[in-house]
Amino acid sequence: MEIKRRDFLKMAAGTSLFLATGAPAMAREQKSLPPEAVGMLYDSTVCIGCRACQPACKQANDMPVEHSTPDSVWDDPIDLSAKTLNIIKVYTTGRGINKDSETDGYSFIKRHCMHCVDPACVSACPVSALKKNQQTGVVSYNKDACIGCRYCQLACPYNIPKFEFDKTFPQIRKCQLCEHRFKDNKFSACCEVCPTGASIFGKVADLQAEAKKRLTLKPGEYYKYPVAHVKSGQVSYRPVAKYQPKVYGEKDGGGSQILMLAAVSFEKLGMPALDEASDASFSENIQHTVYKGMIGPGVLLAGLLFAAYKSTNKKDE
Ligand code: SF4
Ligand code: SF4
Ligand code: SF4
Repeated sequence: MEIKRRDFLKMAAGTSLFLATGAPAMAREQKSLPPEAVGMLYDSTVCIGCRACQPACKQANDMPVEHSTPDSVWDDPIDLSAKTLNIIKVYTTGRGINKDSETDGYSFIKRHCMHCVDPACVSACPVSALKKNQQTGVVSYNKDACIGCRYCQLACPYNIPKFEFDKTFPQIRKCQLCEHRFKDNKFSACCEVCPTGASIFGKVADLQAEAKKRLTLKPGEYYKYPVAHVKSGQVSYRPVAKYQPKVYGEKDGGGSQILMLAAVSFEKLGMPALDEASDASFSENIQHTVYKGMIGPGVLLAGLLFAAYKSTNKKDE
């Protein structure tokens, strides 16, 4: 039986809690979506891989270009990084000639922060440098509060937060849903420029309804896909693909404000298979119990001091 790293960490944490306090690990109640939460629907079947969303993201967020090789002349990141907050990746199989097919096919997938409903990064951050907005649900980052411990990187089930290792005063970098544009009545730059409506912005409730509606459409029939914003009124008229019967992000990992549809299985597209319970609802209880009254750290420190004392005595002998 294969044990995944995250499951191992959960198991180890639960055992440590039991050993340190004698209490079994209990989950706290999972957090729910704010009613006015905003997010994005990414439909892989509508994505043409033009990558217009990548430079738009860089421009809107003052991010530098990135070269995958020293002689590269383009901004051509190969994955998310401290310089790249949004990336379009491609899955291929066999000859890679049939769009949205698992036989000799290919399919695009857009990766960035999922703006989780109950974010593990927020829960893990010891100084609240990562926060979830109570109205919009956007998970944002405060560089002035961050102490660079990188717990958020370890906690995130999607491997999203990146650290600026090459900077003297490094920050964590991740998509913040272009929250800084909201005050000017603008929304996510990647959705604004997407020509096909593969990425659309809106209220999560509207995006969920739109995603579920698409799952009822007949493959091959034409559908008016909203472009840029779920309520924009602009549409792109295109044939419907054969969808996987799942809205990724609706429940995965406790749910997220980024929702996804695809014709190729999400696992093949590199999306993690997560429980419906959020990691944060489990781990936060452990942190709070272990740190309650500093009993756990006290036990650990006493153990370390005892081990050091024994080792010093042995040397003296
Ligand atoms: S701009 Fe839209 S269609 Fe082009 S790569 Fe990005 S998500 Fe896909
Ligand atoms: S995807 Fe990762 S970084 Fe983004 S909100 Fe969820 S836990 Fe935090
Ligand atoms: S919402 Fe903004 S920061 Fe996030 S991926 Fe899109 S353009 Fe980049």
